[in-house]
Amino acid sequence: MSADSNKSIQNWNEDPFIQNLKALTESIWLNPDILSFDEATKDIALSAADVADAEARLERFRPYIAKVFPETEATQGLIESPLRRIPHMQAALTEYATMPLSGDLLLKCDSHLPISGSIKARGGIYEVLNYAEKLALAAGMLSEYDDYAKLDSEEFRTFFSDYSIAVGSTGNLGLSIGIMGARLGFSVIVHMSSDARQWKKDMLRSKGVVVVEHDSDYSVAVAEGRLQADSDPHCYFVDDERSVTLFLGYAVAAKRLKEQLHEQNIVVDAKHPLFVYLPCGVGGGPGGVAFGLKLTFGNNVHCFFAEPTRSPAMLLGLYTKLHDNVCVQDFDIDNRTAADGLAVGRPSGFVSNTMQHLIDGAFTVSDDTMFTLLALLSDTEDILLEPSALAGMPGIARIQNCEEYIHQHKLQNSMHSATHIVWGTGGSMVPPDELQNYYKTGAALRSKK
Ligand SMILES: *Cc1c(COP(=O)(O)O)cnc(C)c1O
Repeated sequence: MSADSNKSIQNWNEDPFIQNLKALTESIWLNPDILSFDEATKDIALSAADVADAEARLERFRPYIAKVFPETEATQGLIESPLRRIPHMQAALTEYATMPLSGDLLLKCDSHLPISGSIKARGGIYEVLNYAEKLALAAGMLSEYDDYAKLDSEEFRTFFSDYSIAVGSTGNLGLSIGIMGARLGFSVIVHMSSDARQWKKDMLRSKGVVVVEHDSDYSVAVAEGRLQADSDPHCYFVDDERSVTLFLGYAVAAKRLKEQLHEQNIVVDAKHPLFVYLPCGVGGGPGGVAFGLKLTFGNNVHCFFAEPTRSPAMLLGLYTKLHDNVCVQDFDIDNRTAADGLAVGRPSGFVSNTMQHLIDGAFTVSDDTMFTLLALLSDTEDILLEPSALAGMPGIARIQNCEEYIHQHKLQNSMHSATHIVWGTGGSMVPPDELQNYYKTGAALRSKK
C-alpha cells in the first residue's frame, strides 16, 4: 500500500461514523451521493440491453437445464425462486423492534433456488453457461437456434473436458460453479477460504471438483485462484471481484421479480414504494440484483446492502469512496462472522464504483441479530435459512426508524403502502444438522434477551 492511501486511511480513523463501525455498533448509512436513475447510469457502461442479452442466453439454456436438473422440470429449466409474504414474521418483528411496522413484508426465497440453493445459482451458473456457449459456438458445435438439450451428450462432455474453470469462494459460489461446471464436463477447481464450511468441500469433492483449501480469507483465495488460472490458457477464471458476467446473471432477477409482484397484485409506483434489503459480501450478487431493480423500477425502488458488523467491506468502500483500496482490516475490524457468505474484507471495486450513485444506503447487523432472527423466522414461518440470509431482515425496522430518509424522499404518505422485500440469499442446501445448530444458537440468544 502506498504512503498516500495509508494517510487517507489514517484520516478516516477519526471519522465518527467509522468509529461506530470500528466499535462494531449496528449502523445505517444513507448514501449522500445518490442520483436519479437516469443521472446515475450516465457513467455506467452497462445497460438494459446487456441484461436482456443475459436473459436471452438463460432462455436458450432452459431445455438443457430442465433435462439435466430434474428439479427444474416443472419450470421448464427456469432457475427461479418463490416470493413469499411473511406476515407472522412481520408481527414478531414488530414486537422485536418495539415499534409498529407498516407496509407488507415479503421474503425472496433465493435460499430455495434450484441446483445450488443460494443467490449464486443466478450469477455463478450464468457465467458457466456463458463460457460453455462461447466455446461451443466458436468450435462450430452449436448454433444459437439449436435445442441446447444436445449439450447433454458424451460429445459435448468430452469437448468441455479439455477446459477447466477455476474460482475463489467462501463456499456458495464454489458450489454453483462446481455443480454446473462438472455437469457440463469441465474440470473445476475451487479455491476455498478458511471460513468455508466442511460440507461444501465434501459435496464438491463428491462431484469430482478439485477443492484447494487456503488457510486465509476470501480475498487471498480469489487472488491465488486468479494467479493459477492466468498461467493456463485453457483455464477460465470466474472472478468474483471483477466479473461483469456474474453481475449481469444476477441482474436478470429483477424483471422476473416484477412479474411475481404483478401476479401477487402488488403495485410498485410513486405511491407504493418498494424497499429491498440485500445481504452483501463482495458485492456482485446484491449489486447485480440492485442494478436490475433500478433498471426495472427506476426511482420507485429503494435498495440497501446489509453486511455483518464484522465485515462491512462494501459500506467502507462506498463511504470512504476508496472502493477496493480499503478493507475492513485497515480499521482493525476482523472479518470474523458466522455469516460465511458475507465474510469478505475487501469489496469489489467494480461493484463499489458502479453502485456509488445508485445504492440508497447500507446497514450493518451483528451475528447475534442474524441468529436471533434466524430462530424467529423458523418459529413464525417455518423457514430455516443460513445466517447470511437474515442480514436484510432488520431493514424494514431500520428504515421506518429513519425519518431523515423518509423525509428526504418525501415518503411520509406512502410508507403505509410500501412493500419490503428481504432477499433470503441461502440455506436450503445446508445439511439439516447444521441448520439445527444455527437454530439452537438463535433460540438460546432469544431466551437470553
Ligand atoms: C454470496 C452470498 C451473498 C452475497 O453475495 P456477494 O456477491 O458476495 O455480495 C449473500 N448471501 C449468501 C448466502 C451468499 O452466498
